[in-house]
Amino acid sequence: MIKSLKFLGLLMLAYSFVPTAKAQQNFLNITNYRVYYGWAHNFPQDLLILRRFENNGRDYFLLINPQTLQTRVNESSFYSVKEMSLADTRVFFKNTPYEKAIAQAEKQSITIQDAGIERGMPSETGISLTADLCPSHKPLDRRLFTDMITEFKKVEKPAPIALSVSGLWMLKHTADIEWLKKLRDAGEIRFTWVNHSYNHRVSAKAPLRENFLLEPGTDMDYEVLATEKLMLKNGLTPSAFFRFPGLVSDQQVVFKVTDYGLIPIGSDAWLAKGQQAQNGSIVLIHGNGNEPVGVNDFIQLLRSKKRQIAQKQWLLYDLSSTVEDEEK
Ligand SMILES: [Zn+2]
Repeated sequence: MIKSLKFLGLLMLAYSFVPTAKAQQNFLNITNYRVYYGWAHNFPQDLLILRRFENNGRDYFLLINPQTLQTRVNESSFYSVKEMSLADTRVFFKNTPYEKAIAQAEKQSITIQDAGIERGMPSETGISLTADLCPSHKPLDRRLFTDMITEFKKVEKPAPIALSVSGLWMLKHTADIEWLKKLRDAGEIRFTWVNHSYNHRVSAKAPLRENFLLEPGTDMDYEVLATEKLMLKNGLTPSAFFRFPGLVSDQQVVFKVTDYGLIPIGSDAWLAKGQQAQNGSIVLIHGNGNEPVGVNDFIQLLRSKKRQIAQKQWLLYDLSSTVEDEEK
């Protein structure tokens, strides 16, 4: 026992020398936040740089591992850096799962609804769960998370979910964010934080081609970057994924999003619209209290799979690994 504790201590000591920034720190004084592309190298890591910013006098990158699609925030001084245009960066990383995923999303950019990557591998026995947090005055639908934890606690811990957060939702739900971070820090749930735009504007009257992010006068810089800044302020690491409000987009706006180095994520199973989840589906529900029927459907789905879950024959897949697999 003492021996193993000692070993653990050594291990922790070893880890404490790896200079990864606390990705979960709250960046409260961000300045000069900007798109910045290129290659960051620190053997054996080859990472793609997406953003650069300062906070309390220190200089940081938002980085993506192009093999795993996982992102992290770290101080820039840790890397040797080659700044490039996004086009050159994508050529540089051209054989990676990241480049294949973003190119795939661009190929699926023409439809007005549900552009981007909408499903993973049918060979996966299970689904990737995504929940959108569009602006809402209602409290977070916490049942979703507590049920996930209950059903998966013996088979998959932490259980993965991708949460698409809008800026306006974050502004009004500080207590909910703190509650989610407690689940994260307790190792109950693993979150992928997806950009869902800042304002998430929607009109009941406008046709789809002028609605959501297609509304004339939309400031994409603000919609994308202000959301990321607010995530960082709240201690959430932005992922490489973007979900269009209402799943509405056109080819032009898809390319605007990929120009920020982000991968648009659609869905082939919006449960509240009656679409069924298949193996490999990217399932969409709303966690913002506005669509309880979708959360009910998901909880039903979990109950119906109870036996398979217990036998690890039906699992939740991390969005990053689903997207990465799709391209193989
Ligand atoms: Zn939404």
